[in-house]
Amino acid sequence: MQAPETMPRTQHEAVAPTSRITCPQCGFVKEEVMPTEACQYFYECGNCHTRLTPKQGDCCVFCSYGDVPCPPKTNGSCDC
Ligand SMILES: [Zn+2]
Repeated sequence: MQAPETMPRTQHEAVAPTSRITCPQCGFVKEEVMPTEACQYFYECGNCHTRLTPKQGDCCVFCSYGDVPCPPKTNGSCDC
């Protein structure tokens, strides 16, 4: 009578979430660490220094230009 034990794997969240932001002006791609509890509204391109703001309807630059949506959007603490 042995119930099979499910071993929940503990996922370590220590790794900071990153997103690869592509600059719409010059195409420069840079991996940036995303803030987990806030939306980042401004982002300055490290190449052409254009100040990026989110596209209409997006809450942060990672949603608009990154390859990963921002953490607040994923975990529901975002108002957008
Ligand atoms: Zn740029």
